[in-house]
Formats: sequence, C-alpha cells, structure tokens
Amino acid sequence: MACLVLAAALSVGCQRSSSPGVGLEPGERQGSTKSSLGEAAQSHGTGSPSRPHGTASSSAPAPPPEPPFTSTDSFDLLIAGGTVVDGSGGPGRLADVLIDGDQIVHVGRVDSAVKVARRIQAAGQVVAPGFIDIHSHGDPVAANRNSLAMGVTVICVGQDGRSPSGDRLAYWIPRIGRKRLALNVVPYVGHGTVRGLAKVGLRADLTDKQLARMARIVERDLAAGAWGLTTALEYRPGIFASAAELTAIAKPVAAVDGVVMSHLRSEDDDKIDEAIDELIAQGSSAGARVHISHIKVVYGKGAARAERLLAKLQAARDQGTPITADIYPYNASYTGISIVFPAFALPPNSYQRVKRNRRDELADYLRKRVTQRGGPEATLFGTPPYRGKTLAEVAKKKGKPFEDVLIDDIGPGGVSAAYFVMDDALQSRLLIDPQIAIGTDGGSSSRHPRGYGAFAKVIAEHVIKRRALSIEQAVRKMTGLPAAIVGLDDHQRGLLRAGWAADVVIFDPAAVTDRATYEAPNRLSQGMSWVLVNGQAVVEEGRFTKRRPGRLLIRK
Ligand SMILES: [Zn+2]
Repeated sequence: MACLVLAAALSVGCQRSSSPGVGLEPGERQGSTKSSLGEAAQSHGTGSPSRPHGTASSSAPAPPPEPPFTSTDSFDLLIAGGTVVDGSGGPGRLADVLIDGDQIVHVGRVDSAVKVARRIQAAGQVVAPGFIDIHSHGDPVAANRNSLAMGVTVICVGQDGRSPSGDRLAYWIPRIGRKRLALNVVPYVGHGTVRGLAKVGLRADLTDKQLARMARIVERDLAAGAWGLTTALEYRPGIFASAAELTAIAKPVAAVDGVVMSHLRSEDDDKIDEAIDELIAQGSSAGARVHISHIKVVYGKGAARAERLLAKLQAARDQGTPITADIYPYNASYTGISIVFPAFALPPNSYQRVKRNRRDELADYLRKRVTQRGGPEATLFGTPPYRGKTLAEVAKKKGKPFEDVLIDDIGPGGVSAAYFVMDDALQSRLLIDPQIAIGTDGGSSSRHPRGYGAFAKVIAEHVIKRRALSIEQAVRKMTGLPAAIVGLDDHQRGLLRAGWAADVVIFDPAAVTDRATYEAPNRLSQGMSWVLVNGQAVVEEGRFTKRRPGRLLIRK
C-alpha cells in the first residue's frame, strides 16, 4: 500500500512536466524554461557539474548499472532500499545510503558484504536530506520537537531584523556553540538589533558616520559567522531605514556572498510591488542577493496576481539581481495587532496623546484598515485576554464598534492575532514557484499552526492531496533550494550526496500529516519515521530519542 501511494506521489512530477515547477538556482543566469524533471535535475543540481540540458530524453540509452559499493571497512549505518529524493529536484531513485559518523559515504547500491553497525529498512519510503527551515523563530537551545517532527534538521534564526540575541553575534556564537543543540542552527544578523547597537534607535535620516557604524557591526557579525542579514521594514525600527541605509548595510553582505532576507515594507496588495522594488534596489545598489521572507499578498486575489509578482521577480533576475523568497502554506498571517494601527499611533509618538487628540482620525483609519483586511471576523486573537476569539466576537460581546475595542481595550501593543487575509489561489500559485522555498515563520511557542505544521502540510496538501508539486519538487524547496539561497551547499548540506552531511529524513509521503490548527497550534506533525541530524537519530521509528547532535553552523 505504502509503495503504491509512494509511486503515485513520485510520478506526479512527470504528469506535471510542463507546469512551471522548475526553474533556476539563485545566482544562475536566466535560461530557457526547462520542460522536464530530468532536465531540472541537471540544471538544479547544486554542487553538481552542469551539463547541457536536453540530454535526458527518454530515447537516450540507459546508463550501465553502477557496480555496488564494496569495502572491507565497517560503517555506522546503512539505509537500505529506499527511494532517494536527493534535494536537487531530480527524479527519485532506488538506492541505499551508507553513513559513517556525520557524513554520507555512498548513495547507490551497497554490497551486502559491507559491514555496518546498524541497518534501516527503508523500502517503500522516501530518503531525503533533512529539511531546512529558512525562516524560523525557533529557540536554538530548545528541544525543537515541533521542527524535528516534520523533518526539519536546520533552522535559520535571527529573522525579521532581530539577531538571535539582542547583542553582537560575536558574543552569542561562542556561548551557543558550547550548548547541546537538538538540531543545526544557522544565525543571521538582524538590522533592528544593529540599529540598537549603533545607538540610532528609532531615528530616520542617519548621518554617514552612523551608517558606517552600522555597516561595521554587520561586517563583524558576518566575520563571526553569520550567514547574512535580515530586515523588517514594516515594523519599528526597520521602518525608519532609508535607501542609503539599506545599501550601506547590504554591502558587507554582498562582500561575503551572503543574502539579505527582508520582511518587506508592506505585504498589502496595493503596496507590495513598491516594497519589492525597494528590496531589488537594495540588492542591485549593493550587489547583494536578496530574498523575500514569508511572501504573501495581503487581501490580493487570484493566481494571475501571483503570476504578475513572479514575473516581476524574474525580470529582476534577468537584470542581474538574484531574488528568491520563502513561504508558509497557510492563508492566515500572525503578528502583533500593531499591524493594523497607523504610524502616527506608534512609537516614538505617544499613543495616549493620539487617543486624546486624534481619536476620530484613528477610529476612521482602523475601521478602513480592518475592513480592507477582511473585516473583524478575519482577526483571531492568539494571546490573552481574548485568545481564541475574533475581533468581531469581542466587539459583539462588549456591545461596541470593533474600532473602539481596538482603541480602548487593546491598543497597539501587547496582543497578537491570526489574520485571515490571504487568498488560496494566489498563495498556492506562489508556493509552487521553483524559486520559492518553504519556511515556517514560527517556532515551538507559535500561536499559529505554521511552526508545527508547515513542512508536513506542504507534503500532505500540495504533494499528496492536490498533486500540485511532485515529491521531488517539494523536497527541493525544503532542502537544495534553501541550501543554495543560504550558502549551506558550500558546506555540503542540503543534498543527499556522498561526502555531504548526514542530515537525513525517511518518510512515507502518504503518511505525513500536519495536525496543528488555529485552535490547537501546538500539535506535532506525524509521519517522519527517521530523522538523522549529523548522522545520529533524533527520531527513530517515529519516536523521539534523547540525542542532541545539532550544531551551530558558522559561515566559513
Ligand atoms: Zn516577518
């Protein structure tokens, strides 16, 4: 049964061979649209020599069978008889995976005489690289079972403009490096943290001296091992960044071929194009690769809207600015309620004074803004005192307009909520784009299901149920693609290849289930039978072990 379902899942890519499911790696020059998975395998294989496309047609003679791997040495682990989906986007193939220590030794046939300490039977299951959560709010030192249960072995932290501590990474890195980590951690330096360290706080129009100070902090954190920079221009203090500032802080990132990841200045339908232009300008002026965090179009509608955005990203690539994105497979966002308040009601302005002097203006703004975002029914509180209730329900109970609830009972600080502001047709079209990776935008303390379910939901919903992605395409979006964006491929992570790190997951795609919901956002996903981090099992036959083989990964 598992085999049949697996075969069906694996064949989806062939059925959809002319869909826009394949594309280029970040940094590659733009070429013609590839039309088969076989070609995709060649043009997407990070770390593999590129071959001219068109050589993988079905009429090409089959290569001679490779001889089985033999050795008189003994090895730690053999994963036998699974379908290897290696993260490149290329077709899955039956192969054994031989592991020793923290490294993959061989992928292919392994002679039965080779001595191994442990053997895992993987027949009927997919064997893939561990998944990379390119936008995580996980706590690096926590058990991170929410991540491991859905196959995530690497989390990228320091997102949305906030370094993982409010301090220099140069101090944080050695401290965390000594801890026992459950999974691998990739740190980013956050622009908001840098603003704090440079003592410019909430100021706009910084002097050249202040910009130089910020650039130096970024440069030092990169030298300490950060993989790039994150910004959040929709929030304080990122909102105060000028074009000159964005260029200044991106230059040190370009110098190390890192990536600038951005929570855009706006994700609203009528402002996102401008916000993406700003990110592209940052990339092109500094010569840096850029990346859109958790791409979404708030209150936009339809697949055609997604197509227009994707065309914009492609045009930027054509003009020489590599741009990618990540996405989570849910149609509600989750953030602080300040997202619906106007700038004039937020720090450094005094909210109390605004309430006294500009109440009508504020009420009018909130009424329009919330209505535009789907109305008070589309706002579901995730924190006390109204957790589990919508803004409409709270307003009804209190017998007053929702804008008055927001002004008097809630205010711009404190509470967070889920906002059902996205359109499935639009978001699902973005999700299958070959330059868009999967991320959670969550962690174990998330009040949104994405921190516990995002990766499992892509498999359960978009691979198995909708057949919008083949398992190969989905795995690439979770492994090879984010590895190439982050630069982990230079560290031999993100693909299942000999010589690469033994971060490995084993699962039957049909058994993968996300169980977290908006009502119960902290339910673990199911379906990963084995999860290996650096060669050691942290999930073994579906059960957690007590091992903590994770590492803080430092950019070389
Ligand atoms: Zn964000």
